[in-house]
Amino acid sequence: MEEKDTDIEKEEDMSKINELIVISGKGGTGKTTIVSAFASLAKNKIMADCDVDAADLHLIMNPEIRHRENFIGGTRAVLNQDKCIKCGKCIELCRFDAIKDDFCIEEPYCEGCSVCSYFCPVKAITMEDSISGEIFISDTRFGPFVHAKLGIAQENSGKLVTEVRKKAKKLAEENKFNLIIIDGSPGTGCPVIASLAGATSVLIVTEPTLSGIHDMKRVVELSKNFSINPSVCINKYDINIELSKKIEDYCMKNSVDFYGRLPYDENTTKAMVARKTIIEYSSGEFSNSIKGIWIKLEEKLEI
Ligand code: SF4
Ligand code: SF4
Repeated sequence: MEEKDTDIEKEEDMSKINELIVISGKGGTGKTTIVSAFASLAKNKIMADCDVDAADLHLIMNPEIRHRENFIGGTRAVLNQDKCIKCGKCIELCRFDAIKDDFCIEEPYCEGCSVCSYFCPVKAITMEDSISGEIFISDTRFGPFVHAKLGIAQENSGKLVTEVRKKAKKLAEENKFNLIIIDGSPGTGCPVIASLAGATSVLIVTEPTLSGIHDMKRVVELSKNFSINPSVCINKYDINIELSKKIEDYCMKNSVDFYGRLPYDENTTKAMVARKTIIEYSSGEFSNSIKGIWIKLEEKLEI
């Protein structure tokens, strides 16, 4: 009986899907360089880009798209001119000034609140799905990759992040992958909140600057609000050794796992330009340090 229980536990362990999300307090900290390096190092994983407002992981992953679908971010009002009796009720009621004097709806201004449609006396306005972007499932030299593109001037990136994560999870389940590595959004807004909910582990990438420390503290607090104890690594630690030390002290005092320092390295930019991961491009100190961080993450994730 005991043996059977152990077998079941083992099976449950195998079917557990870890979601590692890499985030930063602000953009430009080298998050994508680090995520792409993990793509080189990790096995049996799916990559996902949830930095949908500034998606750039695809530049390194060089994806071959095998499935694409529209992302419906909400609804928009559509006015049928043939039915409209020009009473002006909708213009009067639209709080967003989306309906112009010629009874045309300017789509970018429409918030999809449905008020105009509800009060139109002749039912000339209908609410239709609004395509706000696209979601892609691709093959890459590192395995499957789920990514997205938000339409121009489109919002709802939090909802799109949730969709990308759902797709990645489904793909992982279907193909028995036990890890999803996510390039998360910078900052503390909707998209990053959508990335954190339900994540298994969080790695925060920070830089030794005063604003970097301030932003890191905010994302540490945010992660803790989701009951996730995040790990921290410093990129370009050598541009300010003193502030790097402060980050390490902060981590120690606040029981945050400190996973390593990465040096300033021009090869990271050169690798991006060559559309390679830093692991593929160089075997220098940066690559060695990132391998060390990955080993610690593997231990934490128990993979
Ligand atoms: S409320 Fe309906 S009928 Fe009146 S102007 Fe608007 S669309 Fe036309
Ligand atoms: S759905 Fe709302 S925001 Fe859009 S046009 Fe109608 S009233 Fe204006």
